[in-house]
Amino acid sequence: MIPHIEGRKILGTLWDSSIFPNRAPEGHVLLRSMVGGAKSPELAMLKDNTLINTVFDELRHIISLKTDPEVARIYRWEKAIPQYVIGHGEKLRFIDEKLKSHPDLYLTGNAYRGIGMNDCIENSYKIADKILNSL
Ligand SMILES: Cc1cc2nc3c(=O)[nH]c(=O)nc-3n(C[C@H](O)[C@H](O)[C@H](O)COP(=O)(O)OP(=O)(O)OC[C@H]3O[C@@H](n4cnc5c(N)ncnc54)[C@H](O)[C@@H]3O)c2cc1C
Repeated sequence: MIPHIEGRKILGTLWDSSIFPNRAPEGHVLLRSMVGGAKSPELAMLKDNTLINTVFDELRHIISLKTDPEVARIYRWEKAIPQYVIGHGEKLRFIDEKLKSHPDLYLTGNAYRGIGMNDCIENSYKIADKILNSL
C-alpha cells in the first residue's frame, strides 16, 4: 500500500500469485495494482494503454521491474470501496437504532463495519448467528 503523500499513481500492489494458489503458471508472477480511489478517481478512467503503461512505469521505479507484462487485464470498479468519512460511527448507531423497529431486517457488507474480505466474512458470520438465534 502506498501512502498518498508519496505522490504515486498507484494505490498499491498485491502479489496475487503469492496469496492464492494457481494464479500464475510456474515461473510467472501475477500482480494486482489498484489505481484511482477516492482521491484520484480520474486515473482509473485513463485509456487502457495509458493505464497499463502508468502502472508499469510506477512498478519499474518501485520494485525495479525489468520486463514487460505477458498479460495485462483491467477491471474498472466505479465507487467500489465505501469511504468511512468522519461521522461514520454516528451513522451506524442511527441505522442500528432504526433497525430495532424492523427485527427481521439484517444489514451487512463493506459499507458498515470493515471493508476488507476478513471483516466482511467475520460480520457475515455474526449476522448469520443473529438470524439463527432469532428463529
Ligand atoms: C478492486 C477491489 C479490490 C479489492 N481488493 C481487496 C483485497 O485484496 N483484500 C481485501 O481484503 N479486500 C479487498 N477489497 C475489498 C473487498 O473485496 C470488498 O469490500 C468486499 O468484497 C465487499 O463485500 P460485500 O459482500 O460487501 O460486497 P460484494 O462482494 O460486492 O457482494 C455484494 C453481492 O450482492 C449482489 N447484489 C447486489 N445487488 C443485488 C440485488 N439487488 N439483489 C441480489 N444481489 C445483489 C452482488 O452481485 C454481489 O454478489 C477490494 C475491493 C475492490 C473493489
